[in-house]
Amino acid sequence: MNFCTAINCMDGRVQLPVIPFLQNRFKTEFVDCITEPGPVDIFARTTDLMILNSIFTRVDISVRKHGSSGIAICAHPDCAGNPVDDDVQKAQLRRSVIFLKEAYPTVEVIGLWIDNNHQPQEYC
Ligand SMILES: [Zn+2]
Repeated sequence: MNFCTAINCMDGRVQLPVIPFLQNRFKTEFVDCITEPGPVDIFARTTDLMILNSIFTRVDISVRKHGSSGIAICAHPDCAGNPVDDDVQKAQLRRSVIFLKEAYPTVEVIGLWIDNNHQPQEYC
């Protein structure tokens, strides 16, 4: 068995597109899914330590127990959990990737922007 990790928004529109994209991107059979409303906002602000620690607990399980070979952090337009401009979200996405790369230096980390047509794009 082989795994990668998605830190995605809880939004129902972005769940199904992300899984096959990451199976193909990281060449893994399974995708461990961690969802929060607007996760890039949580990583960009780093002030809500309870939620941040909860995310890290789950990523740790995916990385240490499942040997995850890649982590994707995701953002999308019209996010109810992070109602800011797309440009702001994309800046948060870049910051989130930097943050995760520092936390997991041995795992590949990418940032996905899921566009208005629900197509994931590797943004950073
Ligand atoms: Zn969202």
